[in-house]
Amino acid sequence: MFLRNPFRTIIVTGIPGVGKTTVLGILLQEASKIGLRVEVANFGDYMLREAVRMGLVKDRDQLRKLPHRQQLELQKIAAKAIINDAKTKLSEKDLLIIDTHCVVKITAGYWPGLPRHVIEELNPDSIVLIEADPELIAQRRARDVTRNRKDLGGKEKIKEMIEIARAAAMAAATLTASSVYIVINPEGHPEEAAQSILTLVEKL
Ligand code: ATP
Ligand code: AMP
Ligand code: MG
Repeated sequence: MFLRNPFRTIIVTGIPGVGKTTVLGILLQEASKIGLRVEVANFGDYMLREAVRMGLVKDRDQLRKLPHRQQLELQKIAAKAIINDAKTKLSEKDLLIIDTHCVVKITAGYWPGLPRHVIEELNPDSIVLIEADPELIAQRRARDVTRNRKDLGGKEKIKEMIEIARAAAMAAATLTASSVYIVINPEGHPEEAAQSILTLVEKL
């Protein structure tokens, strides 16, 4: 179980609106400049594709409102599909990055995005936890009209979720002996967070 994937694998996580997808977009550009082959798999995309096919939802922010068991089924399908796809595309020198959540706020409470069945399937070398000041995260969410994150609450809930995300990341890492690497996403400078992640990758 502790044998790693043939390619290097990292999970990038952090609470909604902290900037995971933005940072990874920049990382992809930087990686191509240095000749590093990177595949970014967005876990939510995989869940959404399946959920839309089944006629369950229309957009990604509806996924966390589905019945818990339904989300569990989609989560399992997504983890397996990400690794199957990566195995067909990537070789030893390449890097798989999974953009996902280590805690999901569902109607039944806080739910782990990386429970044992998921983390063992993904089997990452490291889990990168992206963080930012709670006030800045609230502002980023408010500015982002492409998403519906209103159900996630204000600054106090953001603080609570940051704490839970730290605990969830470390708990998941324990199951696969992965490291947890905290990266700050500074306001106006997501490229600095992207650079920090590339620095980690050199050490794997
Ligand atoms: P989710 O988990 O909901 O998918 P996310 O962590 O992927 O969220 P993004 O969608 O990347 O977050 O970013 C949320 C918003 O914050 C976007 O509008 C994005 O442009 C903005 N943003 C991201 N990083 C920064 C930054 N460093 N400074 C300012 N704004 C940022
Ligand atoms: P995102 O665009 O990253 O917010 O992903 C869209 C949605 O997919 C999230 O809001 C969650 O509902 C779901 N999702 C993403 N990753 C996971 C995961 N590891 N476990 C369960 N649900 C997830
Ligand atoms: Mg995102």
